[in-house]
Amino acid sequence: MTEDSTTFGVYVHWPFCAQKCPYCDFNSHVRHKGWDEARFLFAYKREIDWLADRIGSRSATSVFFGGGTPSLMQPSTVAGILDHIAKRWSIARDAEITLEANPGSVEASRFRGFRDAGVNRVSIGVQSLRDDELRKLGRIHSVEEAKAAIAIARSTFERFSFDLIYARPGQSADEWRRELAEALALAGDHLSLYQLTIEPDTPYAALQAAGKLIVPDDYDASALYEITEETTARHGLQAYEVSNYARPGQESQHNLLYWRYGEYAGVGPGAHGRIIAGGCREATIIERNPEAWLARVENDGHGIIELATLSDGEQADELLLMGLRLSEGVDLARLALLGGVRPSPVVLEDLTRLGLLERLTPARRTTDVNWRRNELDEISACLGPGLSPATPYNSVSRIRVTPKGRLVLNAVVAKISDSFEQTDRMDNLKVAG
Ligand code: SF4
Repeated sequence: MTEDSTTFGVYVHWPFCAQKCPYCDFNSHVRHKGWDEARFLFAYKREIDWLADRIGSRSATSVFFGGGTPSLMQPSTVAGILDHIAKRWSIARDAEITLEANPGSVEASRFRGFRDAGVNRVSIGVQSLRDDELRKLGRIHSVEEAKAAIAIARSTFERFSFDLIYARPGQSADEWRRELAEALALAGDHLSLYQLTIEPDTPYAALQAAGKLIVPDDYDASALYEITEETTARHGLQAYEVSNYARPGQESQHNLLYWRYGEYAGVGPGAHGRIIAGGCREATIIERNPEAWLARVENDGHGIIELATLSDGEQADELLLMGLRLSEGVDLARLALLGGVRPSPVVLEDLTRLGLLERLTPARRTTDVNWRRNELDEISACLGPGLSPATPYNSVSRIRVTPKGRLVLNAVVAKISDSFEQTDRMDNLKVAG
């Protein structure tokens, strides 16, 4: 993997699901009477128009249909959105175009239509290979349907992935080992393996508060995490992010874009975006309710309810938060360039001594990187903050969390962020390691 900060992605949020799962806090809604899909398609196109007018031309290196359950969309709707993205921006020839799918038979029967629409990767929400566990998770598909969907995905798309949830109530280490081995036998080149987290204001949170749902404690959950890392690595799938495992070169390019803090436009109810407009990085948040979003787009051309220019400090915090999820870690020079800060060496030393952090020394010094101060300003003005060419960043020192550090990732991020000191952006480009 190499860092490439010139990528641009489009996230399209489809907000509907057949049924709400009790652990889910995503922006997903059930509409038993259905929805007017032609009206939604029109609104997606209008919102793309508005965003394209704001940021100008781009070439999308990835498009991601997430949800909700995007596999409930008609393939013609997916095709209409992709055609419009290609018309208002452009879509790179080798772009990764992913659609999240649930394994129900109706959705799987649409896989060929999604492929014909331009989708080249699906990510299937399998969640468990045990029927009783699927029922407890509130899922409406069976293991048989999940296996059938994986088989169709394998024969239909260039790439596919599926998700499992572990650290479920009562799950033992041996049970997880067996289930994970079965999953690896079914897997392609990518798997997403998430620990069950109890989100506030969900039915699972209420059950937990009532003492009716007991999830593994931190000690047991960390043991399951270690089993996950060891087993996937033996199978050739490397942990490139906290919950994502892939053969080299098969990482999700769209998700890497988020974690590398690149530019992406969010379209559809509840979508978030980080766009570069007028040389500034802006955060966008879109209305969550599907019908309210439709009304806003039809009135105003977009459903954005918050649009904020991010300060240098906010960008530094976000880069750190996202980048430390990755096994490649965070580039200290990029942190300095983007946010004008560097972590306190004392704090980095403390975290390293505790075995939570690693500092990666470059293979060679970047003595060739010696830009004029105004040259850098010109590049930033042209490409936007944080979008200067990737070359200088690749050979300076990085920090990353260790597997142990991943278990307390939020605390490590907070510690480093609190320690930020102001620094000179140019000095950090010249200094390696
Ligand atoms: S299918 Fe996915 S998005 Fe929909 S309710 Fe279940 S977990 Fe949430």
